[in-house]
Amino acid sequence: MKAIFKFFKKIFSTPETEVEEQEIAEIKQSSTHRFKVYSRSEHNISRSQMSENAIKVLYRLKKSGYEAYLVGGCVRDLLLGHEPKDFDVATNASPEEVKKVFRNCRLIGRRFRLAHVYFGREIIEVATFRSSDTEDDNAQKVHEDGRLLRDNVFGSIEDDVWRRDFTVNALYYNIRDFSIIDYTGGMEDHSAGVLRLIGDPDTRYREDPVRMLRAVRFAVKLGFTLDKQTAQPIYELAGLLSGIPAARLYDEVLKMFLSGKAVQSFEMLRHYGLFKLLFAQSEQCLNTEENDFPRVFIAKALENSDKRIAEEKSVTPYFLLSAFLWEAVQSQAKLMAEKGEDESFAYQNAADQVLAKQVKSIAIPKRVTQSMREVWQLQLRFDKRIGARPYRLLGHPRFRAAYDFLLLRAETGGAETELADWWTRFQQANEAEKKKMTRPPRRRKGGKMKSKRTKVKAENG
Ligand code: ATP
Ligand code: MG
Repeated sequence: MKAIFKFFKKIFSTPETEVEEQEIAEIKQSSTHRFKVYSRSEHNISRSQMSENAIKVLYRLKKSGYEAYLVGGCVRDLLLGHEPKDFDVATNASPEEVKKVFRNCRLIGRRFRLAHVYFGREIIEVATFRSSDTEDDNAQKVHEDGRLLRDNVFGSIEDDVWRRDFTVNALYYNIRDFSIIDYTGGMEDHSAGVLRLIGDPDTRYREDPVRMLRAVRFAVKLGFTLDKQTAQPIYELAGLLSGIPAARLYDEVLKMFLSGKAVQSFEMLRHYGLFKLLFAQSEQCLNTEENDFPRVFIAKALENSDKRIAEEKSVTPYFLLSAFLWEAVQSQAKLMAEKGEDESFAYQNAADQVLAKQVKSIAIPKRVTQSMREVWQLQLRFDKRIGARPYRLLGHPRFRAAYDFLLLRAETGGAETELADWWTRFQQANEAEKKKMTRPPRRRKGGKMKSKRTKVKAENG
């Protein structure tokens, strides 16, 4: 520990000269934990790939006499040549000290006290090094099942490393000499494409079961494989997700499914038995066949969504979530309709029930569930193709989403292709054609015809 301080004191008090190999080797020998320093020439991260604001924050902290590193996802992504989603900074300055350095800064968070530095729309998150030292009961609180509830003990970089999740997420880019500091073998794992939890996987998952979802998310996002010891406990510990606040799971679910790699995420979540903890009712449907066919609707919806993201088209949470739950709503509604309930009511009631169960595990916001209901309800209205109704449906704010949903149903055998084609044509048709398409069928002269009423009904399906 002393050696570490000596090391940092030395590099912070000298001008920006490269830390000498020999000195590093010396420190490595005497440090509590071994670490490696990858000098500027030994890695491919350059400042030109970074957000200018992140660089400003790093330099300003440095100028004020603090240590400042980029850490986490941004270092990991920069090493892959990817553009990071955001830039996280780690420092030895306390949140209050950070606030004094930056005017445009706000302190946030209860579980983690963090500083947010604002630059217009960009936020640079600055976190103080944390320790997992448990001496101060007020600062760190552990739930009886091993979950970490509060984590506010400040420490040094050497402490901070061990509370991070994966080795590739625990690389520190040092603004002082542009080197990368690696305590956990993250650089080697990164080059090998391996995602490995730091420490004992079982303990780390129990501390925070969301790490199981993060394991899947990063493996898919980076195209990395899960190290065997990191993967193994998930099968057994998946159930711990039921103790996680529903709001946190909603955020994780969105990150996973709006990433452009939803299909892979879905498959991997199912493989590890995690999916059923997020969407129990969907899993139940997936395990039953319909007319001897496995249910492919969700997979198709995810495939479609990934394709849209690849084409830089928009995707909305409510569309995907309504796809996840559609089969559950439908089977529930069918049961009710069989008991004599009016179809539209049956769907509404089924939607109520399915959503009430779902929001217990994943806190889908009201405005999102409202749109989901609309998408489902509109599916019934597609059958009504005579008179003014199709025009009204066309003007509905959720028409586009509901129509895309109908196409998916048709593609997977859940709706007539003829119906989907009709709506495709109807949107493209000119006024005269539209009129013709929505005209009630005429009686044939002299022929023995069904009554007009019955015929309309037949056409409407
Ligand atoms: P991305 O932002 O691309 O989703 P990220 O790795 O930056 O990925 P964040 O959630 O932004 O993920 O977290 C930043 C860093 O904080 C992580 O890289 C990791 O070091 C640490 N971290 C975040 N969540 C956890 C957790 N649940 N357990 C341990 N460490 C975590
Ligand atoms: Mg991040």
